[in-house]
Amino acid sequence: MEFETAYTPEQEAFRKEIKGWLKENVPTGIVESPGEDPREVWDRKRELARRLGARGWLWPTMPKQYGGGGLAGDQAIVIEEELDALGLSARDYGDSGGTMGAPSILVWGNDQQKQAFLPPIFKGEVVTWQCLTEPEAGSDLASVKSLAVRDGDEYVINGHKTFISGGHDVDQFWTICMTDPKAPRHENVSWFMIPARLPGITVMPLDLLGGQGTGHQSSVFFDNVRVPAFNLVGGENNGWKVASTHLEIEHGGGGRVSRDSFGPRVFRYCTTTMLDGAPISKDQDARDQMMEMRIEAEINRLFGLRNFYLAHAKKPRTYGGPQSSYFRKMSGLRLTHTVGRLLGYSALVSSGPNAAADGFAEAQQRQGIVSVHPGGTADVQKLIIARRIGVGRTAREEAGRLE
Ligand SMILES: Cc1cc2nc3c(=O)[nH]c(=O)nc-3n(C[C@H](O)[C@H](O)[C@H](O)COP(=O)(O)OP(=O)(O)OC[C@H]3O[C@@H](n4cnc5c(N)ncnc54)[C@H](O)[C@@H]3O)c2cc1C
Repeated sequence: MEFETAYTPEQEAFRKEIKGWLKENVPTGIVESPGEDPREVWDRKRELARRLGARGWLWPTMPKQYGGGGLAGDQAIVIEEELDALGLSARDYGDSGGTMGAPSILVWGNDQQKQAFLPPIFKGEVVTWQCLTEPEAGSDLASVKSLAVRDGDEYVINGHKTFISGGHDVDQFWTICMTDPKAPRHENVSWFMIPARLPGITVMPLDLLGGQGTGHQSSVFFDNVRVPAFNLVGGENNGWKVASTHLEIEHGGGGRVSRDSFGPRVFRYCTTTMLDGAPISKDQDARDQMMEMRIEAEINRLFGLRNFYLAHAKKPRTYGGPQSSYFRKMSGLRLTHTVGRLLGYSALVSSGPNAAADGFAEAQQRQGIVSVHPGGTADVQKLIIARRIGVGRTAREEAGRLE
């Protein structure tokens, strides 16, 4: 078996085309920062997304008729690799609702809904947040209480979503609500695409420990919000089936193509920062910890790449999503420990001459802990793996549909 990745001449020609295009089209001034992107950087990332979207490269493998690129999985990998080489990713503007909502709409929406909702997402014209979690419904998502009541051609929505991630602006919310309080669990919920500027919607930013590279978290309140019935996707009370697609991606089933940007920053710091007259990296224990970091980062990269390939090449999938998600979360915790030991108090300083790796180490100390929670906690990932290998269910649970 050959583990070394090799590319065909056609793939390399495609890479050349992408490289050339990116050189011309990536807006200048996109700088990585340890905290939330400043507004101007976020705007530039959105501009890049719009330009990629116009070429069909923002969502390369999605159908052309809805604004995607209609390309193959290997071409999507090449695009992601070339963006990644520039320290970028295609949808790095807090579009989690689009990332998970669009594939869900593709599988479960009717054709009119696909025509209405998908092109703006695939062309990078809108930002969508995913509104699932409620104060009393996190891991147990089926317990959501936000209520949508049909009234003529509209639904009237009341409820409170919380911990919702996003950047500076939002155009729409991809949201799960209860539509039949009397129906059994899992047969009582539905999904809505809710325009963000409808009357009765309040977004309240939360100031949490982690922050994020591209955004922060908010609470979203719906107070008698009237949403067109057209915006209910996948059929009334059929929302748990739609959720199987959404959650498959949320739990890592969509994969990712990304280098480890944090490790090299710490390595640079350790090879250039003097401790007792020698670079930190000269110390044997320090090198030992640096290699721990390197190995875990590589495993994360390979899990992500495998899942990306399986999803985009439309191959069968089983527990790969939650496996990769679980490993990423737990290795994030181990990394927090390793970085703390390696850098000492400098890992806890966010700015100034004592801040290790320009403040990225301090951000990691917070985010490594927080990241165990979103997108299904580490416990939830183990639960799904158990079901899929037939330990937690008599019949093995299948992976969520992505097509
Ligand atoms: C940084 C961040 C970003 C987020 N972004 C979003 C977002 O964009 N949109 C959104 O809708 N939500 C978002 N969330 C919310 C996130 O999805 C929830 O926090 C998560 O699902 C857990 O729910 P909870 O906080 O209610 O914890 P709970 O579900 O109450 O869990 C508490 C603890 O119990 C454990 N537990 C729960 N059930 C089980 C079980 N069956 N077996 C074993 N252990 C279990 C959990 O692992 C956890 O340790 C975000 C959260 C964070 C921290």
